[in-house]
Amino acid sequence: MPPDPVPFNHPRLFGRPEHAIGLAIAGGDGAGGGPYGQRCAQWLQDRVGCAAAVITPSCTAALELAALAIGLEAGDEVVMPSFAFPSLAAAVALRGARPVFVDIRADTLGLDEGRIEAAITGRTRAICTLNYAGVAGDVDRVRAIADAHGLRIIEDNAHGLCATYRGRPLGSFGDLAALSFHATKNVQIGEGGALLVNDPSLVQRVATLQDKGTNRSDFNRGLVAKYEWVELGSSPHIGEVPAALLWSQLGEADGITAQRRAVCAAYREAFAPLADKGLVELPFDVADARPDGHAFCLLARRPEDRPELISALADAGIQATFHYAPLHASPAGRRYGRAHGALTVTERVAATIVRLPVWPGLPEDVPARAAAAAERTLAASPVR
Ligand SMILES: *Cc1c(COP(=O)(O)O)cnc(C)c1O
Repeated sequence: MPPDPVPFNHPRLFGRPEHAIGLAIAGGDGAGGGPYGQRCAQWLQDRVGCAAAVITPSCTAALELAALAIGLEAGDEVVMPSFAFPSLAAAVALRGARPVFVDIRADTLGLDEGRIEAAITGRTRAICTLNYAGVAGDVDRVRAIADAHGLRIIEDNAHGLCATYRGRPLGSFGDLAALSFHATKNVQIGEGGALLVNDPSLVQRVATLQDKGTNRSDFNRGLVAKYEWVELGSSPHIGEVPAALLWSQLGEADGITAQRRAVCAAYREAFAPLADKGLVELPFDVADARPDGHAFCLLARRPEDRPELISALADAGIQATFHYAPLHASPAGRRYGRAHGALTVTERVAATIVRLPVWPGLPEDVPARAAAAAERTLAASPVR
């Protein structure tokens, strides 16, 4: 009998979410921005040191809000990595603006800072970064480029809630940063997200945009006699009950992070000999980056190795996966965006990346089993 497959992802709720949810239900008014929603926003604000945080139904909704907040318009361009989740590009395209896809670095799997400037045109308005696996790149260099060209920075920090770079929390580097609490993320409530506002001059605007484009926040503070429609806007809120759930899980964030970091460290140790033998490549050996255990991944030597590797892992009872199909080559990416320059690292990474299960409580023998299965297959098919 093969062992029960170890699932790639195993979403669970930690602590005692029932308690907070019960209080939220008893509280009656379940609308967004209630006591639990405010507590979650304050927690994020304290954690990241941002000027404001708003809770949204998803990271996708947060990215859409960010694109609205920086005033993207038809014809504008936004430089971003091609190796990214579709939401990042879709948020830009929804405003009629054009994603401009550039290559990534093989060590961070994030935007190659050296390729940003050549992609900038008179129409460029922003740079989007993605902290893949909670690993930041050279944030100071991105900021210097943005400042030199008068561009905004939007940080897709869906992976990196508890990760740091040079001791500073990820999500603190962009003018705006998006988080995800989706079932696949470290702190999860099924569906959920947040937008962190680091530029104080955008705080009021984000509040207006999230309030259906009305000046209701001014009204609530007694600054205007009635509230009215003043801007474009939407209503990306979550109610009090999911906010209570989120509150209960934010309290578990550090414990979850510690457990996931330990799993990733065990994988690194188990796969180090394979990397030394040149059978696989392990990204994320990045100075100053302290990821939060979101993901462990390896790069196979060549695309043909990947299906063999994944099926060998499946035979060993371990579910491995891969992702992102490069956005520049995707049907919508071709239609709404354009590629700038060679995307060779993106194409190589997308064709060779393998992700292994990471979750708190992962059976302790999984990293060693995975490495043994990988070594057997890869050693049996030498590169000629
Ligand atoms: C999961 C993810 C998203 C989308 O998150 P949702 O909360 O599901 O909208 C966006 N970007 C990255 C990098 C992600 O991993």
